[in-house]
Parts: sequence; C-alpha cells; structure tokens
Amino acid sequence: MPETLLEVRHLSQHIKLSDSWFSKASYLYAVDDVSFSLKAGETLGLVGESGCGKSTLARSLLKLMEPSAGRIMFQGQDITHYTSKQMVSLRKEMQIIFQDPMDSLNGRHTVGNILQEPFEIHQMGDAKQRRQWAEELLVKVGLPVEAMEKYPHEFSGGQKQRIGIARAIALKPKVIVCDEAVSALDMSVQAQIMNLLLSLQQEMQLALIFIAHDLSVVKHISDRVAVMYLGKIVELTSAQRLYEAPLHPYSQALISAIPVADPRKRKARQVLQGDVPSAINRPQGCHFSSRCPKVMDRCKEQAPQLKALANEAHLIACHLVDELD
Ligand code: SF4
Repeated sequence: MPETLLEVRHLSQHIKLSDSWFSKASYLYAVDDVSFSLKAGETLGLVGESGCGKSTLARSLLKLMEPSAGRIMFQGQDITHYTSKQMVSLRKEMQIIFQDPMDSLNGRHTVGNILQEPFEIHQMGDAKQRRQWAEELLVKVGLPVEAMEKYPHEFSGGQKQRIGIARAIALKPKVIVCDEAVSALDMSVQAQIMNLLLSLQQEMQLALIFIAHDLSVVKHISDRVAVMYLGKIVELTSAQRLYEAPLHPYSQALISAIPVADPRKRKARQVLQGDVPSAINRPQGCHFSSRCPKVMDRCKEQAPQLKALANEAHLIACHLVDELD
C-alpha cells in the first residue's frame, strides 16, 4: 500500500479585503474547507474554471501563502505553521512547476547555474559534483548537455518547461505541484511534457498534483480528479469514474464540453448559463445554485456537504446525492 504523503484537512484561504470601523469586513473565499489526501506515486488532478481557487490551493499547500484555517500534514507531520526557515528543508520534498517556467528560472543566469543552485542552497556536493548532477538532470529531461552554457531565453516554451522540471526534480522531491504546467504549450508539446512527467513519476515514485482548466489534459495523467467550484471541492473520485459517469451537475457540464473525436461517442453539450459568481459574494446555500440546471428550492438555502457515496471512494457535494442513496 503506497504511503500517504500529503493530508489536507479543512484548508481555507479567506483573504480579507476590507476592514473599516464603519463597514463589515469582506473576504475573498479563494479556498474554502478543502480536504483530500495524496499517496506516493499518485496523480491527483485539480480542475475547474479559472478563479475557482486551484492555484491558490497549490500555493497554500507549499506554504507560499499562509492558510487562514485548516491543516496540512506531510508524511504525518503537521506543517501548517512551519516558518519559512523550516520550509527550506521541506522544499527538498515538495516542489512546484509554474505555467510560465520563467517564474522559477532566473533569466540572468545560465541553465547550468540555475540547475546547480538547489545543490548550493542545500550545501550538497562540491563544484565538480554539482556540475555533473546538473548535466545528469538535463539528460533526464531530454535536453543536451550543451544547454548548460545557455540562458533560458534561448529556448522554446517546451524546452523552458523541461528546464523547470529539471530544477523541480533536482533534489528528488516526493511531491510536485504542476500549476497549469502545460497550459501555455502547443498540443504536441503538451503531450511530450506530460509523457516526461509520467516517466519521471514512475522512475522516482513522485506524487503529482496536476492543475489545469483543460479537462482533457487532466484525464490522461490523473489517477483521481477533484473538481473545484468557487473555492470548494464539489466532486472527487477516480479519473475513470469522473469522466465516464460524473454525478455533480457542474462536473457533468465541464465534461460534456470536452471535444470528442469519435462522432458516435459525442454527447449533447451542457452549456452553463451565466458567469462564475464572485468569490467575495457567493450565492447562499449551494454556491453553484445560480447556474445549476437541476437547482431545487433547498439548494438556495442549505449548502451541501462533501460526502461519500455508500461504499465508494466517490465524494460529491450536491443535494441530489440524497436521492441516490
Ligand atoms: Fe445543483 Fe442543488 Fe446540487 Fe447545487 S446542490 S449542484 S444547486 S442540485
């Protein structure tokens, strides 16, 4: 049984926007009461429209933002309130790959320097060893050793992302959060980068949290998928089950919009009405009620809790579940 690496319990990121003497404090509910776990070697996909809280959740997990409530456990240790000093050693174990690789690559340094930096920070090896490790990283991500002397701007988008991946795996982490890591790439390059991530995952037993707004991308890489809406997980189950038989009306609409090549397998697309409401002023009750094609009276008053279907590892937050039980 693979080890549980990450355990997230009731995590929230409520960002205070205003707090004056004369008016009530207002909050942006970027992440709200999110719980899930992640095992070694597993890929958890996180999907939802932009602004649903996926990236804020990713940054909170890595303590790039201090959570406003909840707990983050890594290998059984509560890291929720780790200081930045304590996080330095934990960064060996948990890494992030951004959509724009330049967010993590210093454009004024050569690729060789960028890849040796993690070893320098953690005082690993001597200069000769560090250079050799950097060259090995380049080979591992499919780039020539000559790339050591070049600067990031000399590479294509896909190559830059390979450099970002090389840097992320340098210290042999256990968890990598891929925050829209392939979203800006052409489809053929996307496939190459995903294949690279999958082969590194197998080789290193990496656990991945794969964030994307494109559900077809997430489908191919994930073991389980969590669907987020306005900061909350509304459905969480195996990728196969989610894509074959989604239960939450929001997941159903998202999945119906995925293009299908085979015309015999095409289903009617469910077009959601209206825009995603503001995360500052969410609809009462179920936050999806203003756009849900199956909305009932109780949905506008009672917020559905995320709960498991009987005997199944399938979680859903929708009052319709009561009719399935
Ligand atoms: Fe739709 Fe009601 Fe379910 Fe919310 S709880 S998703 S409004 S049916």
